[in-house]
Amino acid sequence: MSTIFSKIINKEIPAKIVYEDDELLAFNDVNPQAPIHILIIPKKEIKTLNHLDSSNQAIVGKMVLLAKDLAKKYNIHESGYRTIFNCNDDGGQTVFHIHLHLIGGRPLSWPPG
Ligand code: AMP
Repeated sequence: MSTIFSKIINKEIPAKIVYEDDELLAFNDVNPQAPIHILIIPKKEIKTLNHLDSSNQAIVGKMVLLAKDLAKKYNIHESGYRTIFNCNDDGGQTVFHIHLHLIGGRPLSWPPG
């Protein structure tokens, strides 16, 4: 079943898009947890990390490289940042279309709650 992220990909609902190509989309999280909170998603629908296989290797690598590039673009690459894939209930996943959170712009505590 499609999620709200499909609607963002299809431009059926608005989002503040910060990067787009034929395979990836990155946009500001609507409920930011830090000054920079960007979600990086593949345009191809993949529900959770559990659904990945070797055919997805390149796209996941591309997502991580984009996180690094956006961290530099938003000038948090030196101060530091966090990248997170939440998976299923205990991981706190609420949207079942994989997404990489890029969070930074303030000190982040550890361990997570
Ligand atoms: P997760 O809890 O890891 O599944 O993360 C889902 C994220 O999607 C949350 O941080 C939400 O704030 C964010 N989110 C949900 N709906 C939207 C939307 N329409 N535009 C931007 N971000 C959204």
